Amino acid sequence: MSDALIREARAALKRAERVAVLTGAGVSAESGIPTFRGAEGFWRSYRPEDLATPQAYARDPILVWEWYAMRFEIVTNAQPNRAHGLLAELEQEKHLTLVTQNVDGLHKRAGSKSVLELHGNITQSRCESCGYLDGLEPGFEIPPHCSRCGERARPNVVWFGESLPQATFQNAINAFADADLALIIGTSGVVEPAASLARLAKEQGAYIIEINPERTPLSSAADTSLPMSALEGMTVLMAGDERV
Ligand code: NAD
Ligand code: ZN
Repeated sequence: MSDALIREARAALKRAERVAVLTGAGVSAESGIPTFRGAEGFWRSYRPEDLATPQAYARDPILVWEWYAMRFEIVTNAQPNRAHGLLAELEQEKHLTLVTQNVDGLHKRAGSKSVLELHGNITQSRCESCGYLDGLEPGFEIPPHCSRCGERARPNVVWFGESLPQATFQNAINAFADADLALIIGTSGVVEPAASLARLAKEQGAYIIEINPERTPLSSAADTSLPMSALEGMTVLMAGDERV
């Protein structure tokens, strides 16, 4: 990673007026929330394709809810980290839209306002009958029931094989099509169609910065790919490490 590239990325960010951000599980790794595919990922002991699908839920709703209850507990005990915080600060300076694949709600807890949650939010249940969203409380009953109509509720997340919430995704497309600069942080880039947002911004001439300790399918499309954690990368870009 050359200092010149870091300086170039920093200058591009400074110049940009409209910024679109896409975050994945990596941005929350330093808050102690495991990624699915990382070394400490859930997928080791629980294969997500066996749990995060409509079929799994139809087969064994209690098992699926127990997995979500375990993840709910991790998320509610976690705190946003400095990478979430710096993204909230960036929103004060730019016209910024933050699109996230995360279901942990940490961007909002860090103070970001313009957040599009593509995959829902693990701290809510959604009624299977009327669609009402309830906030889950620690120790919630399994399975939870709708506070409005009393029917069973499911996790308010997008499962494998389900489509994204259309209006939310359309807003994400608009933000990336409109951006001068796109920041792609901590996503493996294999979950479509979210990953295609980066390519869309690129096609529209945006400057692309990726932050990820590993190379991803998006790395070659990025103008600058910072091989760093979300926290290091955001610090280098924003807090201004004066050595480079
Ligand atoms: P992923 O688990 O597929 O990939 C995570 C990426 O983060 C990897 O590319 C990895 O190299 C990178 N990474 C690991 N540590 C990092 C760090 N400290 N800083 C920056 N990057 C780091 O996650 P994904 O691509 O976001 O998609 C998988 C799906 O899993 C998503 O749909 C999401 O809904 C779900 N998920 C969400 C959470 C959460 O809400 N926190 C956690 C796990 C999985
Ligand atoms: Zn209901």
